[in-house]
Formats: sequence, C-alpha cells, structure tokens
Amino acid sequence: MKIAIYPGSFDPVTSGHLNIIRRAAHIFDKLIVCVMVNAVKNPMFSQRERVELIRRVTADLPNVEVDSSNELLAEYARRRGGCVILKGLRAVSDFESEFQMALINRKINPGLDTMFLTAESEYMYLSSSIVKELGSYGVELSEFLPSEIIPDFQERIEKKKKFQGGT
Ligand code: ADP
Repeated sequence: MKIAIYPGSFDPVTSGHLNIIRRAAHIFDKLIVCVMVNAVKNPMFSQRERVELIRRVTADLPNVEVDSSNELLAEYARRRGGCVILKGLRAVSDFESEFQMALINRKINPGLDTMFLTAESEYMYLSSSIVKELGSYGVELSEFLPSEIIPDFQERIEKKKKFQGGT
C-alpha cells in the first residue's frame, strides 16, 4: 500500500491545501495529513482544532486520515509506514527550503522520498498567513477557505479583535 504523508501547520487549512489533498488522495492508496505541532509558535487554532477542521473538510475522502505529531517528520513517517512525503510547491521561493528538507529527511530515513505537487494557478499566492491577514480586514474569504470552516475562522478573528481592543 502506497502511503503518503502531507505535513504542514494548516493554521487553518486553506483551499490551496485542500486542492493538494484531493489530488493526492487520487494518486496514493492512503494519505495521512499531519498537523506538525512545532511549526507555528502562536497559532490561531490549537493543534486539536486544526485536526478537527481538516477532518471536517476531508470527510468525503475515505482514504484520507488526519493526525498530528510533534515528532521529527522522518521518524513519524517511519513509524506510520509512509514511503512518500508530499509537499505543495507554490513558487520558486518555496523550492530552496523544500529541497533542503527533502534531502535531510532522506538522510535520516533513506527509504523516504519527497514528492511535490505544483499549486493550482489560482492558489499560487495563497497561504494561511495571508488568509489571516485578509480576514483581519474583513475581506470576503470564500475563494480562499473551504466554506465549512469560514464561520469558525470568522469567530476566531472576532475574538482576537475584541481581545486586542480590550473589550
Ligand atoms: P502555509 O504556508 O499556508 O502556512 P503550511 O505550512 O501549512 O502552509 O503548508 C503545508 C504544505 O502545503 C506545504 O508543502 C506548502 O508548500 C503547501 N501549501 C501551502 N499553501 C499551498 C497552496 N496554496 N497551494 C499548494 N500548496 C500549498
């Protein structure tokens, strides 16, 4: 069975992430989407919430599992029987650090390959941090986030604004 692992911070999962997940679910027998807990210092959503949001938007994909880990990715992949790390590549700027990570992961776990899916052109510019920035200015988000999670996202933005405003 070909198991791929798609790691990231997913704070929150965007339409760009979901596009990669859907395409990969067609390619591999099983796809494990793994929320890596150390990746973000001050996340908007907790690790458990991020897992729950991804589960909600992938509920129709039976071969997708959502998990979280604070292990080294190469060790996590070994433990889960993953043979491929899957990454999405947006622009050339993603390439250098991804190339370095791929080589290091393979050094730690020689059975492990990294594969890249190129971002869909409409999502090339999209990142979780840009969505958070846009959300704070009240921009309409239906092009950027899966519709099922927009209410959760907006509620979190409102809470943050109230907290910052001291009300
Ligand atoms: P972000 O950069 O949005 O905070 P993550 O760190 O959670 O995202 O990224 C997890 C993986 O998803 C990485 O491989 C990243 O390159 C990929 N990815 C992020 N956004 C997109 C997108 N819009 N299209 C394709 N791949 C993406």
